[in-house]
Amino acid sequence: MKKLLLIDLGDTRGELNEPLGIECISSRVIREGNIQVDMCWYSMIESDFFENLLLYDFIGISMNIGTLDRFEKIYNFIHKSDKNKMPLILGGCIPTFAYKQMLEKYNNIICIYGEGEEAFFDLIHRYERGPFDINESLSEICNLAFKLNGETIITSKGSLDLEFEDTTVRDDYILQYIKKNHGIVRLEGSRGCSWNKCSFCCVNAKYANPSWRGFSIDKIVKELIELSDMGFHAPYFTDEDFFGQEYNRAIELGNTIIDLKSKGKIREDMNFFISILAADAICEDGKKALAVLKKAGLREVFLGIESLEKEQLKRYNKKANIDTNTKAIKTISDIGLNIDSGYILFDPEMSFEALGINIDYIGRLNLNKFDSRSLKRLRIQPLTTICETLSSVVTDELDINNLEYPYRFTDKKVNKVYSEYKAWEDANLDGSWKIQSASRGEIDENLRYELKLILSKIRDIDFDVLNGIYKNVKDNIINVQDSVFMKTQRQRKEKLILNGFKLIREYY
Ligand code: SF4
Repeated sequence: MKKLLLIDLGDTRGELNEPLGIECISSRVIREGNIQVDMCWYSMIESDFFENLLLYDFIGISMNIGTLDRFEKIYNFIHKSDKNKMPLILGGCIPTFAYKQMLEKYNNIICIYGEGEEAFFDLIHRYERGPFDINESLSEICNLAFKLNGETIITSKGSLDLEFEDTTVRDDYILQYIKKNHGIVRLEGSRGCSWNKCSFCCVNAKYANPSWRGFSIDKIVKELIELSDMGFHAPYFTDEDFFGQEYNRAIELGNTIIDLKSKGKIREDMNFFISILAADAICEDGKKALAVLKKAGLREVFLGIESLEKEQLKRYNKKANIDTNTKAIKTISDIGLNIDSGYILFDPEMSFEALGINIDYIGRLNLNKFDSRSLKRLRIQPLTTICETLSSVVTDELDINNLEYPYRFTDKKVNKVYSEYKAWEDANLDGSWKIQSASRGEIDENLRYELKLILSKIRDIDFDVLNGIYKNVKDNIINVQDSVFMKTQRQRKEKLILNGFKLIREYY
């Protein structure tokens, strides 16, 4: 029997997100393939990791943003070895959005772009009995990009039929590690998005069919029971659009969870996290669904607000407008759910005035008091609509590792505010990330509350600083970083971060 190793290269910021991508591939291959599958998570590798690579017939690597260095270590090891010259099969974010650049840079690799289950299964199945090399027959497999005789071949796009997916095969060893280290367990309720038109978003490149597709309620519930039995209580749904406008389905799921909790089949304290669209929270059916899910344990909702300025919302091609976003925030808060808000404050085409309008709205809606990091900039990611429209501001080649094109701001004052704010934020970014990662994991709910409180105070300080920088730039004051105000805010922020570390240390 041939042997397949699936490696997830982990998160370079240290967040322990369950490696769902390789688990999904493994589930698909195990279901029908006559092959031994092992999974390996970079966060857990041991000293014999590289030597053991040579024991496998196939190696699949899931590459998240920031993991190019880790990939190169494996690539160099395999390609220097005399024993094994097999192609490496790459999937995940980097090969999906930068397969062209990857194929230019590395030899003997096969990139799987988008959903990997079918492509991976077909690929492995084809070589179950023979030697593994790159040849013409790969052209028949969907979602692949590879080089053959110097030519780049990109095969047709394909989607997984979610109806046939029964359950995700999880690796006990990985799950035990997550539990011990208070990491994050994850599951899928759906893929794709009912809107799928935001200009910065990657769903169109990620899926052959970017429309919303749901997994069966049976599969979702089965996984919740499994996670509950394993002692987990706070899973994250990775769905881009949890509802997909199918509110009755969500209500059915919520009621099923409530019923299973009452029968002791899902632990009573199981709570979960979902992502929704602003439109979901303001329609009557959506509100009903949120209320039922809250009873079932819904704890927190990601809401992609992205902007509160008219022209910027148009550039982002968001479904929501300022009014929808404002109402959605109020509804979700009134239901008693925590909001994780997505906000893309800086974009290269924004004017200084538009930045001021955004800052004003953030303050008025108290977004600065949420624990999520809202004051971010747009990433120009390859294969998105905005990547084409913003080509004139791009200043360099694609940064493959971070999966974005570097760019300049067209308004010099916006550029000044951004660079001053970035300098401020970068100084303590690792600290706030560490607290944020811990606040998302499998921890006691009181600790989650305390950590989120600290984070919201940190975000509030960040917002004060941004506001201060904005006013200084407006008044042409040059030495922003050296002011007494900034020094005082820095001390406050550092004290909060130390408090967060202390809480984490005591708990761990
Ligand atoms: S609503 Fe979210 S998932 Fe849908 S297109 Fe916009 S950013 Fe992407």
